[in-house]
Amino acid sequence: MGVVRNTKSVKLVNDLFNEIHSAIGVVELVEKFNGQMNKSTIYRILDRLEDEGRVHSFLGVNGLKHYAKCHDCSKSEHVDIHPHFQCTTCGKVECVSYEIKIPRLSNKKIEQAQLLLTGTCEVCLA
Ligand SMILES: [Zn+2]
Ligand SMILES: [Zn+2]
Repeated sequence: MGVVRNTKSVKLVNDLFNEIHSAIGVVELVEKFNGQMNKSTIYRILDRLEDEGRVHSFLGVNGLKHYAKCHDCSKSEHVDIHPHFQCTTCGKVECVSYEIKIPRLSNKKIEQAQLLLTGTCEVCLA
């Protein structure tokens, strides 16, 4: 039937990240692959791609998980500490190439940092 096999599914999801230049929310991802793979398969693939340093995730408006392609990450080194921008008019979400300096806290180990910028994108502003 319409359900594709595992390796092919991974490729489909990975290809999507290569095509789109913005980030994509999980709900949208599930809709995109509706009929090709089920929700749990998609989640499993996303976890795997994230583990492999191919995508990174962050929370958008309403705490909705989003994924975007990584550029200089590898399995051992996820170096994606940059802000994300979400347009409150059209809903577009994207990575912002601007490195955030994370403060070093002497007695703590920081594993993650998130900065979500919201506002109006260039298309909606025009
Ligand atoms: Zn917009
Ligand atoms: Zn990003």
